[in-house]
Amino acid sequence: MDAPLIDPFARAITYLRVSVTDRCDFRCVYCMSENMTFLPKNELLTLEELDRICSTFVGMGVEKLRITGGEPLVRRDIMNFFRSMTRHLDNGALKELTVTTNGSQLERFADDLWNAGVRRINISLDTRDEQKFADITRWGRLPQVLRGIDAAQKAGMRVKINTVALKGFNEDELLSLTEWCAERDMDLTWIEVMPMGDIGNENRLDQYWPLKDLRTSLADHYTLTDLPESTGGPARYVRLEETGQKIGFITPLTHNFCESCNRVRLTCTGELFMCLGQEDNADLRSALRNHPDTDEPLEVAIRNAIALKPKGHDFDYSRQRLDGQMSRHMSHTGG
Ligand code: SAM
Ligand code: SF4
Repeated sequence: MDAPLIDPFARAITYLRVSVTDRCDFRCVYCMSENMTFLPKNELLTLEELDRICSTFVGMGVEKLRITGGEPLVRRDIMNFFRSMTRHLDNGALKELTVTTNGSQLERFADDLWNAGVRRINISLDTRDEQKFADITRWGRLPQVLRGIDAAQKAGMRVKINTVALKGFNEDELLSLTEWCAERDMDLTWIEVMPMGDIGNENRLDQYWPLKDLRTSLADHYTLTDLPESTGGPARYVRLEETGQKIGFITPLTHNFCESCNRVRLTCTGELFMCLGQEDNADLRSALRNHPDTDEPLEVAIRNAIALKPKGHDFDYSRQRLDGQMSRHMSHTGG
């Protein structure tokens, strides 16, 4: 059972993204509707169950865990879970424990995260304008997040800012966000908006700002050098020669990264999604709950799931229809 996880296309699965809650203290317009119905508590994996699943994956060769949500840091007692993962860092099986957060709780938790072994953190921030921030997150407040970013850096963590590229919304902040990140020694990654969840009143096609356009605008002001590194995911990186800063571009709608895909995603209810762009998933929760005393059925369920990992996904904006649109919200699979 100790053999590494290799999928049918010879890709080693070394990266697990885990959504620990579907809840959030924000209601970003591209992610959630204002009135969300959240899952009843008994549907959620307990922190002990999350530990069992993550530890099993680590035992099967996963080297990187990213904790996400919903907003991971609003889950009650989540620091206990982080602390319990520290043992895998200590024994060298896990190389990285990291988080994607909206930053609202970091003032409170930055030191605890550092002490649990978190060295790098992704913080989502789409604008540095207070009013626009309140508009896009509906419930979020910018000063609180800025204090969270300060706390993360003060604790010693390397911060990467994740910004969703939205036409007519943060186009005008392309340079000021870049400069702000350079001044604070933070990396910056732009994310192309994805057709997830309800479209609601907002037609997301109107907000679609292709990253190739963003990149062209950036190249008007900076010298961009492509960086060869690949994370096995949808991010591509350039260095801005003038500042030395690394800028990332995440284009989940293109499928040129599937060949090197090294990751799977676990939802807070224990479904394992083998591909961000496809609905196929495997239920790991029953393997856990039906067998409280042994992890063997869980390991079998994981291997069976990985054997079904598809070759690639199929989003397509090109015909100006939301083909390949997913009914899942990002907050469900954790983005
Ligand atoms: N709450 C945390 C946060 O906001 O960082 C973690 C979960 S959130 C779902 C993860 C990332 O997904 C965030 O950077 C968010 O901006 C991004 N995201 C959410 N909905 C998106 C969408 N429709 N298209 C592109 N990115 C999206
Ligand atoms: Fe919450 Fe993150 Fe979704 Fe915004 S993007 S609503 S912060 S889960």
